[in-house]
Amino acid sequence: MEMSNLDTLYRQVIMDHYKNPRNRGELEGDTLKINMNNPTCGDRIQLQMNVEDGKIADAKFVGEGCSISLSSASMMTMAVKGLSVEEALKMSGMFSDMMLGKDVDTEEFDLEDIEALKGVAKFPARIKCATLAWKAMEQGLGKEEDEDSE
Ligand code: ZN
Repeated sequence: MEMSNLDTLYRQVIMDHYKNPRNRGELEGDTLKINMNNPTCGDRIQLQMNVEDGKIADAKFVGEGCSISLSSASMMTMAVKGLSVEEALKMSGMFSDMMLGKDVDTEEFDLEDIEALKGVAKFPARIKCATLAWKAMEQGLGKEEDEDSE
């Protein structure tokens, strides 16, 4: 069936990001570091972002977790690099909606591999794995707004 082929493709994309995570490592410079844990699965990631002039200049992550959490972090850091804070938060809202199984306007964003995580919406226990890195990003950007300038 067509659907199971798509599922297989998506699973391959997720496993590829899990085995070869993009943007895994430490950032240098004036870096926001946000720790986020998902105790139900044991996922622990630290998102690192350099935000300059209202844009995400760079994003990386370190940590350990399941294939869903790490592949999502890999995909998310790819997708938000270069976006404005506003755009990144909007994309995060879209991703939350996707995880709730809502129909989302995927044309609006350059999602690349992110659609591979769409199927996670069918597995409520894993949704927190998929949203972990995104929540870290939201928290980091919220912090950035509140931060007093030096
Ligand atoms: Zn997990």
